[in-house]
Amino acid sequence: MTSDPIVAPLTPVVPVLRSGFDEGVTRSLRWRVAQLQAMKRMLGENSAAFEDALFADLGKNPTEAALTELNVVVAEIDHTLRHLRGWLRPRRVPVPLALAPAAASTMLEPLGVVLVIAPWNYPLQLLLEPAVGALAAGNAVVLKPSELAPATSAALAELVPQYLDERAVAVVEGGVEVTTQLLAERFDHIFYTGNAAVGRIVMTAAAQHLTPVTLELGGKSPVYVDDTVDLAGTARRIAWGKFLNAGQTCVAPDYLLATPEVAAALAPHLVAAIAELYDGDPRSSASYGRIVNQKQYDRLKGLLGSGTVLTGGRTDDRTRYIAPTVLGDVGRDAPVMQQEIFGPILPIVTVSGLDDAIAVIRAGEKPLALYAFTESPTARRRILTETSSGAVGFGVPVAHLTVPGLPFGGVGESGLGAYHGRRSIETFSHEKAVLKKSLVPDTLKLVYPPYTERKDGF
Ligand code: NAD
Repeated sequence: MTSDPIVAPLTPVVPVLRSGFDEGVTRSLRWRVAQLQAMKRMLGENSAAFEDALFADLGKNPTEAALTELNVVVAEIDHTLRHLRGWLRPRRVPVPLALAPAAASTMLEPLGVVLVIAPWNYPLQLLLEPAVGALAAGNAVVLKPSELAPATSAALAELVPQYLDERAVAVVEGGVEVTTQLLAERFDHIFYTGNAAVGRIVMTAAAQHLTPVTLELGGKSPVYVDDTVDLAGTARRIAWGKFLNAGQTCVAPDYLLATPEVAAALAPHLVAAIAELYDGDPRSSASYGRIVNQKQYDRLKGLLGSGTVLTGGRTDDRTRYIAPTVLGDVGRDAPVMQQEIFGPILPIVTVSGLDDAIAVIRAGEKPLALYAFTESPTARRRILTETSSGAVGFGVPVAHLTVPGLPFGGVGESGLGAYHGRRSIETFSHEKAVLKKSLVPDTLKLVYPPYTERKDGF
């Protein structure tokens, strides 16, 4: 008997997928490979439609859309196809002498029906990349794209059923109401990417069914720069990572920490780097995106007064344009330092040195990523051992998520669990323990009762 409240299913989607899963549709390696190949075909044959949708939602340049969305998923598919057979192989585990002869191993089994909930900022990548892992691990999947990227959501809802097996994959479009109804249903895993407030809602809903969750959240990812590095090259890297997708990237450098001397020397290089990346005029540059909606635009505009504008600061209400902006003289308690910025504003906060920078980082929540530009091995070691974050990037922001062998995920307030490559297969599987022992010889005789004499070795 179940004590779950009776909830009318939103659509027959979950029962259909559960039947598909229970009938074994998703089990074979051949089916999994076919799904991944079909997803790759979908991306290849409809790249223009997806790029148009991403442009409509975020003003994303088609090259940037290819680099940061479609190609990322295709790379994940290729990597998974190359390694999947090996990843799924049972793993032998040694048995203690007292149990010998016996064989112990673990095998990965699919969890069942998985729900993937994606945000609007990389609306294609962040829906499909988890789906690659879920399908490769042999699950059925409900995909819930973000309603705040409606063109991409519509394109996915139209195209996914044309390529992937409808017995095991479904797209459910909608906003909070639909997601709330979905969350009332029973899933075997929920994979959520978005903000931490909704992360708590997801985890609470999942708890009703004891459903495991992966929460890919965000937060303020710091970047620290010291005086041992080439500041022109550093500025280029930071500007690229920060202003990609108009700053609407979960792993973008959120704020910059440097001594007043380094900050003063770095600022002109940041100004030059921005000019170089966006043809001297980000507003007319086809390479620069726009803010996703009015609510985010208004919030970001309100943060522009948090310091002295060193470059940028311009806005256009009509197109929701916010120039790539660098703010100096930013106090540690300024509004821009009280929330994840998630837009094209880079505040520079001055510190007295590495000790102070570490103290600032540790005073905040554990970030999704932490970046440092330093040639000092001591500084690198201290950053690695004295701070906690989902990932650390030395000399480069953002790019760690393109290394398939690196788990991608947060810690503490920036997330729970990880994915990418092999880690995705582990996330979407149960590692089942298997012990095999033959009846003869019956070495267990030694521990059977009656306990007429001590058999425990004491
Ligand atoms: P969003 O508003 O699109 O929300 C994400 C999803 O949650 C959507 O599918 C939406 O329908 C659903 N949702 C929203 N409110 C809900 C509610 N009340 N109940 C149930 N479901 C609800 O995206 P967002 O949260 O604004 O995304 C931005 C955040 O995501 C930032 O904090 C960013 O750092 C984080 N993020 C993290 C990663 C990562 O990989 N760790 C990637 C991208 C974004």
